[in-house]
Amino acid sequence: MAVGLGGVRPAVPGTEAKTVGPGQIVIPAGDTEAPGIPRPRTLGPGSRAGFGGPARAAIRFPGPAAEHTHEPTVRPLLFVDEGARQRLEKRLQANFSEHVVLHVTDNKRTMISSARRGGILRVRLHHMFLDADAFTIGAVAKYLGHDDPHASRVVNRYIEAHAGRIRPNLRRTMRLVASGHVHDLEAIFRDLNRHYFGGAVDAAITWGRALGAERPRRSSIKLGSYSQAEKLIRVHRALDQAFVPRFMVEWIVYHEMLHHVLPMPLVNGRRVHHTAEFRARELSFRSHHRAMRWQAENLHRLLGR
Ligand SMILES: [Zn+2]
Repeated sequence: MAVGLGGVRPAVPGTEAKTVGPGQIVIPAGDTEAPGIPRPRTLGPGSRAGFGGPARAAIRFPGPAAEHTHEPTVRPLLFVDEGARQRLEKRLQANFSEHVVLHVTDNKRTMISSARRGGILRVRLHHMFLDADAFTIGAVAKYLGHDDPHASRVVNRYIEAHAGRIRPNLRRTMRLVASGHVHDLEAIFRDLNRHYFGGAVDAAITWGRALGAERPRRSSIKLGSYSQAEKLIRVHRALDQAFVPRFMVEWIVYHEMLHHVLPMPLVNGRRVHHTAEFRARELSFRSHHRAMRWQAENLHRLLGR
């Protein structure tokens, strides 16, 4: 049993082993879409197709900079009409001698990709193409088959015109919920900010996702996290319960606020989040010992046992 107090999502990927807590999927930075199929060719909005060698740079949306984040999100299911998928597959098939297998995606960045393997052309297309006109589908086929620059421009225009069908980045549109059923994170944050930080902490704070109706048996729980990229403190919903004293919530918030104000130096290539200074500052929290004791005695309840 472990308690992950204060996970930190670094702004730069690859500097920390990702801790995956319950109800939290930390998607590694970089290409997270469509595992299992090699994709030498991809196309997305804003692309400059036709550049580069055979492993052309993936063309993505909204762009490389936005990939350097870890999103705690569960991918929503996309329900694709199987008839529509088959019709599109057939339309594509008409352009190729090899067997075409179409997979329809709800990707955010990679709108088109393909790979040839064992005489099969595997194509992954964003669902925006399901009802594309014949001209566009013809261009998709030309792009896939011949790397045709004119075709790629046509496809790019189509993608740009239908960008509204790309599901938004949750991180940007996420609603922050600071007031809970029991504890008001905003009030706690303000109080701590004034008392310990001279009001200098300008991070945002939110409760994490609501606890599901059926609670999985947990063996660990990450009670708080701080995302440097988003300047956002997240507090686990398990703490928004009547049996959880305010000082316990304060303790978690305080810890994450320290992450906001203290440097996270690289030491021998590893990001150090809890420096000696960090540990010293933790001790100055007024309810430090009380919180540690409460946490040890009540962890099982937070874990839902
Ligand atoms: Zn921490």
